[in-house]
Amino acid sequence: MIIPVKTSARTQMIDITSQVRRAVQESGVRDGLVHVCSMHTTGAVTINENADPAVETDILNTINKVIPWDDHFKHLEGNSAAHIKVSLFGPSEIIPLEKGSLVLGTWQGIFFCEFDGPRSRKVNVKVLAG
Ligand code: ZN
Repeated sequence: MIIPVKTSARTQMIDITSQVRRAVQESGVRDGLVHVCSMHTTGAVTINENADPAVETDILNTINKVIPWDDHFKHLEGNSAAHIKVSLFGPSEIIPLEKGSLVLGTWQGIFFCEFDGPRSRKVNVKVLAG
């Protein structure tokens, strides 16, 4: 199942936990693993705190400091910073599924990370029974 994500900034974290939960419910699978995968080379998926939005701000401010947008990169499209960030964050996460619920900690949420927005994005959710 594809989750569409519309982003509104160059770098942004968007909480997609509720959309992933809905996709899992629609699959009908109650136990197994849930693979959540970005379909882009400049957008990642990560799990982190979704209680305090300042955490997102701190993560984005720090990654933008570590990997500046312009650092004499060779890639002609001009978005190497975004490609590098995706390789650091990773394109996907795997979440255990037990009794129909995602096994996440109290403060954990699933985020799509935009690194070259704003754009229309797609996240693939695959539920594996087992
Ligand atoms: Zn590129």
